[in-house]
Amino acid sequence: MSGNEQSGDGEKLWVEAVARMRLNFKTDRERSQAERYVPMFVSHEIEGNEYIIGVSEKIQVDWFTPMFVAPLEQALHESGLPETIHVRFAVRGAATMPRPTSTARLIRPTVETPVAVQTAQNAMLSSTMPLNENYTFENFVKGPSNSFAHASATAVAKAPGKTYNNPLFIHGGTGLGKTHLMEAIGHFVRKNHPSAFVCFITAETFLNEYVNAIANNSMQAFRDRYRRVDVLLLDDVQFIAGKKQFQEEFFNTFNSLMGSGKQVVMTSDVAPKDLQGCEERLIGRFQQGMSVEIESPSYETRLAILKYKVQSAHRLIPEEILTYIAENIKSHVRALEGALARVAMFMDMNPTIPLTVEIAQNLLKNSIEEEKSIKDLTINEIMQTVAAYYGVTMADITSPQRTQTLVIPRQLAMFLSRKLTTKSLTEIAREFGKTHATIHYAIGTIQQHIDVEPNLKKALGEIASKLGRKPSDVLD
Ligand code: ADP
Ligand code: MG
Repeated sequence: MSGNEQSGDGEKLWVEAVARMRLNFKTDRERSQAERYVPMFVSHEIEGNEYIIGVSEKIQVDWFTPMFVAPLEQALHESGLPETIHVRFAVRGAATMPRPTSTARLIRPTVETPVAVQTAQNAMLSSTMPLNENYTFENFVKGPSNSFAHASATAVAKAPGKTYNNPLFIHGGTGLGKTHLMEAIGHFVRKNHPSAFVCFITAETFLNEYVNAIANNSMQAFRDRYRRVDVLLLDDVQFIAGKKQFQEEFFNTFNSLMGSGKQVVMTSDVAPKDLQGCEERLIGRFQQGMSVEIESPSYETRLAILKYKVQSAHRLIPEEILTYIAENIKSHVRALEGALARVAMFMDMNPTIPLTVEIAQNLLKNSIEEEKSIKDLTINEIMQTVAAYYGVTMADITSPQRTQTLVIPRQLAMFLSRKLTTKSLTEIAREFGKTHATIHYAIGTIQQHIDVEPNLKKALGEIASKLGRKPSDVLD
């Protein structure tokens, strides 16, 4: 945080209070709100009997006040701030600064007017949630796991509503960058088409607005508001599952926007076809544009993301520590950020202790354990899933019969057992009732054919997802 209170004590109090607040939160929803919004606070300072938290836009003051004032006040008091001091959010930075000098204009050349226009629009569209300033294309590290999604998102941002990527449906597991990419579209459009209405909202908030509109008898205003949007960014659309009446309303909004050439972007933790409790016709509409998946990042991408984050935070973290994190934290990007934050905090609090891999190991013990438990599949589960996929029996998988229809599933099961469990070749051999050499040979054979046989690759990817894993877990 770049506050006016850079001096050690103020900063420590703040860091401790934020950590406490996170611990105090009871629900996932509150925790994820904190994770999402705290990075948007731009400063914190004590003025008289107020602890003022600076944000960059008025809409953020309105949004954050009910959400954070009480929890932050409690956490700050618990961390030693006198109880007579109260928390308040206020716009700090651009909007309250004196008229920019010409140098300031040079530094932020295009921001002035668009921000003013945008803020006025935001006021009209009260439901637009603030965009996270860090979630831009510039801050998004590309890799094989997200390059397709990235390409579609940039195409949409450059020509919203004008490409075949409409609607754009971004799906994938948690913490892989879906929201980041979606908000990047929002930033880009706001900057380059300042007159466009960009509405970013989670499906959950959208539903709440709808429920309120019914309660207040203001459906017409609700409809008008959303149908004036030029770019609708709807986050976590899986939330509408099972909400029949709302799906009806959304279907109409969606059709009206698409009918008038507006852009719709959605994110979800599953592909459209796997949205449970969602009407067929809605799924059909979701599939009409472009559906892209973000997968778990490979080792190289994980390392690239870590290096980027370290560099943009102007930090110095030894290379071997970053490699250690990239090797051990594999599930998603948010977990990588968490690991980095823990290491950085240690460095801040112990400036004289050189950070070694042993220390990092200790700091990250819990997250690494968690990662391992995600990985813990049994060979039996793998055999079962492969057998079901190929329509053969478990007995076929372990039988000595050498017909081609059985050899492939059998070798695939061996390969997956090696990739997705921590079992040794000997242990795998025992479970399959084969020799060590047979397993070794099977793994080599599959590995050799992956890149030349698209069907094999596809099967591996699909079986991996059935096992709750990402294709990259088995193909990397
Ligand atoms: P999701 O919406 O898929 O759950 P988010 O978009 O919230 O995930 O991403 C989680 C965190 O990881 C965010 O802080 C985001 O900035 C970061 N992140 C994800 N992918 C990337 C990437 N490719 N480059 C840089 N940061 C990323
Ligand atoms: Mg998200």
